[in-house]
Amino acid sequence: MMPAERVLFVDHTGQIGGAELILLDVVQGRKDSSVFLFEPGPLGQVLAERGMSVITSRWGRGLGQFRRDSSWLEALPLFGRLAAITAELAHVARRHDVLYANSQKAFVLSAIANIAARRPLIWHLHDIISPAHFGALQRRMQIFLANRFAAKVVVPSEAAAAAFIEAGGRRSLVEVVPNGLAVEPVRASQQELRQRLGLPSAPLVGVFSRLAQWKGQHVLIEALAKLPGVHGIIVGDALFGEQDYAAELRRLVAELCLGDRVHFLGHRSDVPLLMQAVDAMVHPSIDPEPFGRTLVEAMLAGVPVIATDAGAAPDILDHGRAGLLVPPGDARALSEALDAVLAQPEILAPQLDYASRRARTHYSLARMLDSIGLLIRNVGAGAAV
Ligand code: UDP
Repeated sequence: MMPAERVLFVDHTGQIGGAELILLDVVQGRKDSSVFLFEPGPLGQVLAERGMSVITSRWGRGLGQFRRDSSWLEALPLFGRLAAITAELAHVARRHDVLYANSQKAFVLSAIANIAARRPLIWHLHDIISPAHFGALQRRMQIFLANRFAAKVVVPSEAAAAAFIEAGGRRSLVEVVPNGLAVEPVRASQQELRQRLGLPSAPLVGVFSRLAQWKGQHVLIEALAKLPGVHGIIVGDALFGEQDYAAELRRLVAELCLGDRVHFLGHRSDVPLLMQAVDAMVHPSIDPEPFGRTLVEAMLAGVPVIATDAGAAPDILDHGRAGLLVPPGDARALSEALDAVLAQPEILAPQLDYASRRARTHYSLARMLDSIGLLIRNVGAGAAV
């Protein structure tokens, strides 16, 4: 049955990060719904190719590259544009039954636009609300608007729920819906894949995230310096104004003389293939993650995972039963864990088996879509407000 509600999905970015990959799955089949984007970009193109109605603001170009540590002076000209986007949103919202904000910036503007439009508003919060990611004013505004105007706040993990509540968010608003993924199995041997992808045949580990300081790619580079002969692929690009960090990573590689062992592959759309080609997937985030799709992708691919012990990772990895956990920001601990995994991969077979079953049962796409579909229906019918 086709979903009946006309939902206006709202996202601030035109780039495709983890949250936007989830949005692409959530909007699938909702032909009466639309997506409002603040700026043009690959996300709008993919949505349009899939037959979705996409409305792109005339005022948001480049806003995604604006960093929260920019000065007030730099931010000043933005306020007019934000007001214009809010007015556009209020206008479009009236043609829909439910508003669904898929990012923090999208939620703030949707909540304000909705003061006039008065539609039930869902916030899919893909972040950990904490001082590491948001300034004090931003946190206060998010929580005030959520408590006052959101019908539901969807979070992907207990860690994200706890952070929202700790910041002052109402517990009764929160609905934990773990992210769900469907990854097609790749039918090729690791050796074939490496040849096809032009990857070295040496021991190989990888990190698969956009480049950002808190994603901790530098910790993997430092760990590789302690592991002679081991190569690393760094997959991902600076999507949201983190170009300085990307340059810093390249400097670090040069400084540590790792140019022949660390391979920057940029943003890729064949992550499942690349992931299956490595001997271990590293998730080195130095701040708590609200989820971590790459953890589940590696579990589905049958690849050993080494992740930092913070945020949602311990939960997803069942406290070490589905992957190894190391302290955040500790290159030595990471290099020791990698050394252990690479030295005796056969020991990990039962863990990989368990991880793959856990990913399929707990983090399936069908499960996520059912939960979100039900939530939208209830909110649309006024049941959850
Ligand atoms: N990803 C991708 N290409 C890249 C790097 C990452 O498609 O070059 C995907 C990755 O496979 C994962 C998502 O981007 O599905 C990142 O989601 P995650 O939850 O790990 O992090 P987020 O970006 O949401 O913080």
